[in-house]
Amino acid sequence: MFAFQFDRLNRQGELRHDEQLFAKLLQQDDTLFLPLYKQFLAINDQGLIWLKLSEIQQLTGTLSKIHCIYLGLIDGKNYFAYRLQSSEQLRTLSNLTSDLRTLLPQLNEQEAYLANVATALNQWHSSHQHCGYCGHETFATDSGFVRQCSNQDCTKQHFPRTDPAIIVAISHTDATGTAKLLLGRQANWPEKRFSVIAGFVEPGESLEQAVKREALEEIGIDICDIEYQNSQPWPFPQSVMLGFTAKAKTVDIQLKDQELETANWFSKKEIQQLVKDEKMILPFKFSISRMLVEQWLNKN
Ligand SMILES: [Zn+2]
Repeated sequence: MFAFQFDRLNRQGELRHDEQLFAKLLQQDDTLFLPLYKQFLAINDQGLIWLKLSEIQQLTGTLSKIHCIYLGLIDGKNYFAYRLQSSEQLRTLSNLTSDLRTLLPQLNEQEAYLANVATALNQWHSSHQHCGYCGHETFATDSGFVRQCSNQDCTKQHFPRTDPAIIVAISHTDATGTAKLLLGRQANWPEKRFSVIAGFVEPGESLEQAVKREALEEIGIDICDIEYQNSQPWPFPQSVMLGFTAKAKTVDIQLKDQELETANWFSKKEIQQLVKDEKMILPFKFSISRMLVEQWLNKN
């Protein structure tokens, strides 16, 4: 299974606007805060470093409500993210600080999920400091899930964004009856890394249209039998990957938009041999792209 499938967080979205309740939750003895600076989190041998209210106050001098993001409730305990304002504060907590991409293999399911939510929201706060309508500064409200414009003539509210991106495993069966999967690589990926096709959904497009367009743009292949499989949130940037499978109607590959430096059809045997010979590296173990590749390998 891939990462971020934890489903026991009660986000209590209906309570976010309740300032008094929010203040009460912040003060509870067992409430925990995940300190982060930009995309960076601190860990120790036990996993992510979480702090109590008194420890946040000790670290930053005061607990500032505008830097708190309410993540939600798990087994009766409330979890917040705390947006630190300097990297030094984070480094005070541990010598080990890094982003979720690097830390993921060391985190349990619950921690990875909460860190993902916190990272995505923190990035949104950082990139929405000013109102997109009038340019005035915004401030955080609704437990960290709204940024409101400070201009009294505007007062627009801004909400966290999630950008949909599609990812698709395209396959076909050749004239000899051998099933093949299309894998490609981008020039800026780690050496030998291959993956399936992916891209952002464009305005005015259905998911199926985005899948079809990306296949045409990236590899010049016409596809059919587009089937939704699964999804994975991903905070770099704040997106959700929507996984599909599809069949190729044409097989001649043309790298039309130059997003990929190479792409080819591979049989199961070829993939397994290339991986064994260390000539091919499959996508990151916890990713939906890896799941799509493994799902295809297991079927063929
Ligand atoms: Zn404004």
